[in-house]
Amino acid sequence: MKPKRQEQETASTEVAEVAPNILRMQLPIRLPGLGHVNMYALLDKNGAALIDPGLPGPVTWQAIQHRLRQAQLLPKDIHTVLITHSHPDHFGGAQRFVKEFGATVVAHRSFRFGLAKSIVENQPEISVDDLSDGEPTIAPNDRAEMTERGGHHHGDKHAHSHGSSEGAGWWGGPTPWGGSPPRPSFRHRLLRRVYRVLGRGMNVPKITHPVEQGDLIELAGREMFVQHTPGHTPDHFCLHDPEAGVFIAGDHVLPTITPHISGISSSEDPLLSFFNSLDRVGELPGIKQVLPAHGHPFSDLQARTVAIKEHHYERLERIHEISREFGRPASVREYSQHLFRRRSWGSMAESETYAHLEHLRHAGSAQGHRDKRGVLYFETG
Ligand SMILES: [Zn+2]
Ligand SMILES: [Zn+2]
Repeated sequence: MKPKRQEQETASTEVAEVAPNILRMQLPIRLPGLGHVNMYALLDKNGAALIDPGLPGPVTWQAIQHRLRQAQLLPKDIHTVLITHSHPDHFGGAQRFVKEFGATVVAHRSFRFGLAKSIVENQPEISVDDLSDGEPTIAPNDRAEMTERGGHHHGDKHAHSHGSSEGAGWWGGPTPWGGSPPRPSFRHRLLRRVYRVLGRGMNVPKITHPVEQGDLIELAGREMFVQHTPGHTPDHFCLHDPEAGVFIAGDHVLPTITPHISGISSSEDPLLSFFNSLDRVGELPGIKQVLPAHGHPFSDLQARTVAIKEHHYERLERIHEISREFGRPASVREYSQHLFRRRSWGSMAESETYAHLEHLRHAGSAQGHRDKRGVLYFETG
């Protein structure tokens, strides 16, 4: 059996000081590819700020209480909650700290989650990529096992009932690339359940303190700067303490897996945004400690940004090969089914494929056109 990737490890109950006055606390999540999310507590004389307090719901809340007790903190000591980006495994506990303890909530000013007015805002992914081939994010057996545990099996027919009209995505709206919707992936079905639990977004926190690129926040007795890092989501931000060389990375740069890049984004070329964000953080001097949202702390931020970019370049190269193999314009789904393993097929794979094809189109090395039914076809070269 393949060794588990560190991002898949089950949440440890241990609290570790990973930098002076910064504690790593792992909260349980059970998503394909991910076994925990790191909540960081940044201690100061007024109490503590928390970064990314896990999924919504009582299990996470209990785990948060437990971790805080270990650190001799009370929930009322939490004066600030920071949310690196608008995925539910990162903002879950935030609203409770606001409601019950009057905490301030910090997120990027473009923070937006879920079933909003336009399709552009409906980021379908709930967490990081477990789809990639070049840099595999999950062992096939583990994934099958997780799917099993989640009570879902192949041939689960009523998953089809949602959004089954031609050209509709799992959320019921049309995909920008057209074509009939794929069967929603386990993750999407899970997200739908999360939505139900959330009461359609009721627990999405109200951001009391929106921030943007370059803003300075004092945390853990340090001066930390906001680095806006669009890509994984348009609202993703990281925190940088230049004096100590500490970098809080969210899902932007993870130790061994690549974050999902969705083609459905308010950004015209989300992959290019992601590359630019990787370059920007890769150039930060003097980084000693990178604190990711999943997996263990690491030190070589620059090398990791390069490796993630290489993974995407390989995928872009592979798209050229696939196009040559087809010898004709092909749909986003056709490309995605050549890029991804069968078990990853679905709207997430298509969405990420679309991001890559659009990137090539914007760079002038792919052409796209629609047929009469509105399905997009791409050809590279
Ligand atoms: Zn995440
Ligand atoms: Zn995420």
